[in-house]
Amino acid sequence: DFSTRVTYKGNDEIGSLATAINNLSSTLERYQTNRNEFFANITHELKTPLTYIKGYTQALKKGLYQSEEEKNNYLMIIENETTQMNNLMDDLMDLSKIEEGKLNLHMEDIDLIEVIDMVINKVKIKANQKGIDVVFNSPSHGALINADGQRMEQIFTNLLENATRYTEQGTIQVTIINELQGIKISIVDTGIGIAEEDLPYLFDRFYRVDKSRSRSNGGTGLGLSIVKKLVEIHDGTIEVQSTLGKGTTFILYFPIDLNE
Ligand code: ADP
Repeated sequence: DFSTRVTYKGNDEIGSLATAINNLSSTLERYQTNRNEFFANITHELKTPLTYIKGYTQALKKGLYQSEEEKNNYLMIIENETTQMNNLMDDLMDLSKIEEGKLNLHMEDIDLIEVIDMVINKVKIKANQKGIDVVFNSPSHGALINADGQRMEQIFTNLLENATRYTEQGTIQVTIINELQGIKISIVDTGIGIAEEDLPYLFDRFYRVDKSRSRSNGGTGLGLSIVKKLVEIHDGTIEVQSTLGKGTTFILYFPIDLNE
């Protein structure tokens, strides 16, 4: 039980020891609350697809459908919900590996232009279907960096899938700029935007502004927390700016080791 506190007050050594113990208790208490919340979230996130899967399986079993179309619809829901569970499992595995410091990075010299080009090609189909243009501004001499190529791909896939998911019309613009001591990448969308009061929590696990929109598009609510951690283990930074109803901008910066 971390809720106990030492009541001793004083300006002597025991007083500062008491303060230190109380601070530690508060930290542990917060940690415990976070942990409990995290498990409650996971349970909820797993229960939701399972409820759908069970419901529609039973409906199919009992022949509770009017047409072949309706039956196929049920099957599609079941398939989507299993995909949702799979996404969640993958994200949870990544998170736990990163948090335990067990994520092995395969560092290599890569060109970020090639990585992002590949990611853009992946999300372009979906974006174009929604009538969204994807524009890529890249430097002509490459954007070389020592990093884990697959993890870089994961970072930009997440950000560009989000941009596509939360944009209804307009453009997604990706820009790479080689700076003196690093590489700056911005991803600008003309989407639904994020309210100022939501921004501080955006990189928190399971934080979603619009739950149903996120879920129906395969989102787990873990994407940005993973992105942030992957950026940080590459010594990089990520920032977000947004205006509700106007769009969102993510800015990433990766330092380049000039001594290499
Ligand atoms: P999700 O899997 O729900 O997309 P993320 O961690 O990737 O989870 O993002 C957290 C939340 O941030 C999303 O649910 C969404 O509300 C918001 N969000 C992320 N990217 C954007 C964006 N480009 N435009 C608007 N909202 C966004």
